[in-house]
Amino acid sequence: MSELHKFIFEGLPVRGMLVRLTDSWQEVLARRSVAGDAFPAPVRALLGEMAAAGVLMQSNLRFNGALVLQMFGDGPVKLAVAEVQDDLAFRVTAKVVGEVSEGARLEAMLNLHGQGRCAITLDPKDKRPGQQPYQGVVALHGDRRQPLQELAEVLEHYMLQSEQLDTRLVLAANDEIAAGLLVQRLPVQGEANLQGAQRNEDLIGLDEAFNRLALLAGTLTRDELLTLDADTVLRRLFWEEPLHRFPALRGEDGPRFVCSCSRLRVGSMLKSLGRDEVDGIVREQGRVEIGCDFCGLKYYFDPVDVGELFTPIGQQAPGSATPQ
Ligand SMILES: [Zn+2]
Repeated sequence: MSELHKFIFEGLPVRGMLVRLTDSWQEVLARRSVAGDAFPAPVRALLGEMAAAGVLMQSNLRFNGALVLQMFGDGPVKLAVAEVQDDLAFRVTAKVVGEVSEGARLEAMLNLHGQGRCAITLDPKDKRPGQQPYQGVVALHGDRRQPLQELAEVLEHYMLQSEQLDTRLVLAANDEIAAGLLVQRLPVQGEANLQGAQRNEDLIGLDEAFNRLALLAGTLTRDELLTLDADTVLRRLFWEEPLHRFPALRGEDGPRFVCSCSRLRVGSMLKSLGRDEVDGIVREQGRVEIGCDFCGLKYYFDPVDVGELFTPIGQQAPGSATPQ
């Protein structure tokens, strides 16, 4: 079962998390392959890492709303998205427009011409009128313009920029499991923080405890992350450290695949296209077919459904169904 493990190191300003998406991740891939639309293997691995990273970041920020991790590419992958709600429900999708070669990494998939971007959007649940979601963007290259090949490096860079916090991330995914380990320096709290707004920034790279724990985390290989259970991973890495673990989050409390698409939402999307446009599709194809990019579910609107969609509720024939 998919699970999230949180831990702290007692007496040290460092926290961590380990996520393993198993059944939920397999469901995502199965839906896609049932729909006859499986992603190339490197894209599946990227989406798995994005799902794992999204869960870690959402859970780390405890943001009241959706965290959306997006990669915008200038190569064969135009877009890859992982969306994680505050209850850890996640979904992912990608838009692939060209050939993705076997073993392709970040640069070959998304950053062929150096224009690739990674955006993290925090979309609040209860938006005030006019309130925009917060978005941070980082390029897919490092400080010396070298192209980054690993999502983990991109996100470490993002967290340093946006939160001024040292973070070590290890991510890996195959078709059975998507997993990630995060170790992060805790933000300076309370009075110490008030004494100088630069405090967190000043500490970058200088916390000896974080540096030691990050080094240990960095020894975890992808293979170990994919094959070993959480207890074994944490014991192997941190057996000499004052590790304090919290109860694992699983099932309804843990990370799981949920798609928020609905017939009602697809209906409003069609409405926003306008009657002429939608009637045009019906004339051409007999009905409108919209597939959800995240879960593969197909929604159909026949001419009667379309008629109802564009008829104000009060004017519908008695007994006719309201579009759901
Ligand atoms: Zn869906």
